[in-house]
Amino acid sequence: MTTISVLGLGAMGSALAGALIKAGHTVTVWNRTQSRVQPLMTLGARGAATPGEAVAASELVVVCLLDYASVEAVLAGAEKALSGRVVANLTTGTPKQARSLATWVEAQEATYVDGGIMAVPPMIGTPQSFIFYSGSEPAFERHKAAFELFGDAFFVGPDAGLAPLNDIALLGILDGLLSGYLHAAALIRASGGSAEAFTPLAVRWAGSMASLFPDLARQIDRGDYRAEGGSNLAMQAAAMDQMVEAARDEGVDPIFIEPMRTLIHRRVTDGFGTDDSAGVIELLFLNGRGK
Ligand code: NDP
Repeated sequence: MTTISVLGLGAMGSALAGALIKAGHTVTVWNRTQSRVQPLMTLGARGAATPGEAVAASELVVVCLLDYASVEAVLAGAEKALSGRVVANLTTGTPKQARSLATWVEAQEATYVDGGIMAVPPMIGTPQSFIFYSGSEPAFERHKAAFELFGDAFFVGPDAGLAPLNDIALLGILDGLLSGYLHAAALIRASGGSAEAFTPLAVRWAGSMASLFPDLARQIDRGDYRAEGGSNLAMQAAAMDQMVEAARDEGVDPIFIEPMRTLIHRRVTDGFGTDDSAGVIELLFLNGRGK
């Protein structure tokens, strides 16, 4: 069993530390507010008085704090102990923040792994949880068994920014699903219906629409959006006009669906009315369609 330190015992850090203790690892914990340390010590962790003491205690240092500003401040305070350590930072941040922190950690002669957690704290250690990792692949492989105690562990590449990139990509899908569902539920409620009664079919619809993603992905990677499935953009532009009009008629603000309507119309105006909807992606790239 490896000795592992955990910096940060908020809801998520406590769940991570708990999973490691449960599996029999020797775990040292640190938290800014000391009252959060005691429950983990009751489970069997050792408490450290400072971040430096926690970093010195273990080869693998798991960091889970509020944001990158707090991570940078806490690691700067432990700078002298970092050499030779693996820092696995599971704090949510941007790809740019992850790359910059990786450079700083490596300058301290330590190794950096970034993690994007796709779970809420009660899911940690259950089959519902998975985590993206990026950065040092050898360090990821060396500690993979420990990482898998948190949930399925997916290494997505040596660029430290790739774990947060995949994380925010999936969160974008969550936002889309949530906004779509709220729009739909508003329509149902505005005309006196029951959201609960409507929801089983909403769940079925979301699942069948998600099953189209692999087809969209093929078109997106090829950059060829010629309609295959009979849902061309000109037809969808007309349908979106009706959806927006119907929402207003029913007393619902179409604010969630207006942006899609605008993009579809722009694509039709650009001459792509016979393409499939995946072609709308071309309007999202600010700097060309990528490498
Ligand atoms: P909490 O608010 O429960 O805990 C925040 C932690 O950060 C605490 O340990 C807090 O210490 C510490 N902290 C905040 N500011 C500082 C600072 N300036 N210096 C030192 N320590 C600081 O958040 P969570 O544990 O839920 O989230 C932690 C990370 O995990 C976040 O990046 C979050 O986005 C990510 N995450 C959380 C999920 C969730 O559902 N909770 C899901 C996926 C990712 P103190 O106790 O002293 O305040």
